[in-house]
Amino acid sequence: MSQAAYLDYAASTPLDPQTAALINDSALGLGNASATHSFGRAARELVDAARAQVADFLGGRASEVTFTSGATEANNLAVLGWWRALRPRLAGRTARIVASRLEHSSVLASLSVLEEEGAVVDWAPVGRDAVLDAAAAEGLVGPDTVLVTCPLVSNVFGTVQPVGELAAAVRAERGRRGAGGLPILFHADAVQAARFFPFVPEDLGVDAMSLSAHKLYGPKGIGALWVRRGVELTPLLVGGGQESGRRSGTENVAGIVGFGESCRLLAARLGEERRHAAFLRARLLEGLVERGLPWTPVGDGKRAVEGIVALVSPRHCGDEAALKLDFAGFAVSSGSACDSGKRTPPAAAAEVLGEQAARRGVLRVSWGRGTTEPEIDGLLAALSRL
Ligand code: PMP
Repeated sequence: MSQAAYLDYAASTPLDPQTAALINDSALGLGNASATHSFGRAARELVDAARAQVADFLGGRASEVTFTSGATEANNLAVLGWWRALRPRLAGRTARIVASRLEHSSVLASLSVLEEEGAVVDWAPVGRDAVLDAAAAEGLVGPDTVLVTCPLVSNVFGTVQPVGELAAAVRAERGRRGAGGLPILFHADAVQAARFFPFVPEDLGVDAMSLSAHKLYGPKGIGALWVRRGVELTPLLVGGGQESGRRSGTENVAGIVGFGESCRLLAARLGEERRHAAFLRARLLEGLVERGLPWTPVGDGKRAVEGIVALVSPRHCGDEAALKLDFAGFAVSSGSACDSGKRTPPAAAAEVLGEQAARRGVLRVSWGRGTTEPEIDGLLAALSRL
């Protein structure tokens, strides 16, 4: 194969050419969307139209969509913004949070800030199936819980998480507290889910949801936090009061346009995306078995999105294998350091595989629209040469 095969869609998807062309056009000659002259108004119209596209994708209202620099910022805004809005109401009470180690580092690091500021995190266990234990998590939601957070899909394993069950637990707790009780926010990181299945955050019962355009064939450096109407967050970025005061800073108009377009295109292509990804998944997993390769998928395949799989091998280390595959022309991601024991494995891998096995690391292979059968066959051949 002359060109390297890109099999790391969970890290970032290639930019759709149609979206790229639109970004290019909109980046030319536009004003600041806050300016009142014609150039500014033209930019504002583009931002408004894109906001409506993202809101449509989520089955929500445009006023509920706040554009951010990506999902890292969206996750930070949900966790830290909620905490800052709520803290004055705690009156010395110890606030508790329910979360799992399947979260992306941008959520985990935000939670560490809350811990430093006196909050206590109740960690929901994750099974060997790489799915959060919903019953255990529900049991952790108590009278002092102010935040519950859960990814819709794990970024390491591709497994779909029980967001509906957690939402029910949050709803029940709200009912017990009654009107005027301590508020509780349910946040879901939907970054890895949005490419594979449709969802309406309002119907799912979540209050805030993070998205990132570059996981949806859109540009890097733009994302959004959807926040249910009526939920108050303290902004992290202050200044000009853009994004209805939720996120100051001149809007990234070209990025926002690209994000809106990627949502529009994805909504129309979701079925096709899933079918293609499912076909390639079967080819990869069947190929591993047929060739007798030592790599096995982690987690419950029946509860995973079609385009992400984490593989483990008792004979190989994830990072070493990823490096060799890179030399062979296959770009995949590895979970962790292998031998040294010096570096700690990522929290999610340690939770699902156990500390020891997690040190060997995983090989995360992820694919999408542009991935071909010969690329999967080539990867299988390369794996058999490791
Ligand atoms: N959450 C999840 C689940 C992710 O996979 C990622 C990207 N790796 C992020 C958040 C961060 O998104 P961004 O790159 O837009 O900051």
